[in-house]
Amino acid sequence: KYYNIVEDMKGKIRVFCRIRPQTRAELAKGSNTIVSCLDDYSVILETPRGPREFQFDRIFTTEHTQDDVFQESSRLIQSAIDGFNVCIFAYGQTGSGKTFTMLGDREQKNPGIIPRTFTRIFEIIQENETKFEFKVLASMLELYNDRLQDLFVSPSEAVSKRIEIKKDKKGLVFAQGAEAKEATSAGELFALFELSSANRHISATKMNIESSRSHLIISIMLESRNLANGSMTFGKLNLVDLAGSERAAKTGAKDDQLKEANSINKSLSALGDVISALALEQAHVPYRNNKLTQLMQDSLGGNSKTLMFLNISPSDCNLDETLTSLIYASRVK
Ligand code: ADP
Ligand code: MG
Repeated sequence: KYYNIVEDMKGKIRVFCRIRPQTRAELAKGSNTIVSCLDDYSVILETPRGPREFQFDRIFTTEHTQDDVFQESSRLIQSAIDGFNVCIFAYGQTGSGKTFTMLGDREQKNPGIIPRTFTRIFEIIQENETKFEFKVLASMLELYNDRLQDLFVSPSEAVSKRIEIKKDKKGLVFAQGAEAKEATSAGELFALFELSSANRHISATKMNIESSRSHLIISIMLESRNLANGSMTFGKLNLVDLAGSERAAKTGAKDDQLKEANSINKSLSALGDVISALALEQAHVPYRNNKLTQLMQDSLGGNSKTLMFLNISPSDCNLDETLTSLIYASRVK
């Protein structure tokens, strides 16, 4: 029955909570595990004031593999090919497992949703090639210090390029000044992704040396022409790996890093406001407050299908952030 969760979710935001295993550093300091789950839908957090329960559309624990997580999400790829706007992103403090969920581990022994999606898109295309003609275009952008950067060009070239967020006739958001490149195979999409990874800003912080300080926004435009009647279908898939939401003090940030942290916090709170407004069905949704939410606008709310992962740490040393995250995300439902 689990495999039907994302089937009928038009206009809604689904929230999956994923609990990562304790890291080596947490185990070394003797951190206790304070997160458990009651069943596939309820998380229990042990707080000093007693246990608190939170409900989600699905919980993933350390028992679940990347494949399990992808199985639950992959129907959305078909939806995008069928003409929906889809957004999949992960939310949570730095080190909670967002990048692991979206991209996978460094060595790609455990690939995450993004690489699996690249493969799946072209599997679906192959299965339908006799009836449809497909076109796949991708743009890969980074939002760093409130500046958008086209990851298909080198950082030095990107400095002189100005990117503006616009809407086309169909209401689809696009980044004017950034390239959308065509991919005719999964291999080509992977090659574009490798190019974009090489062009990203990465800086080390005390908290997590691999943590990325910028948001990654991959947009895949999926166009298909029905060979029988010539009708066209357009869908869009936004895949977002957000930067961390940790407090500057805990990471020992200074100057440049503080500027980064402020800009990250601003965009994350803008995203939080949009999601809350959608969850509460408010008439005004404040998309325009930040470039991140402007870019995600066509795949959040309206007729789109949104899947948010809430990534959390199981350890007592992260109690405050985990509690804040759980309260925030369970409100979305
Ligand atoms: P974030 O992107 O939220 O800052 P990461 O995805 O970089 O966090 O995760 C922090 C560390 O925890 C990484 O070393 C990552 O490989 C590991 N990790 C996260 N989630 C899992 C998981 N579900 N299983 C195994 N390791 C994980
Ligand atoms: Mg990350």
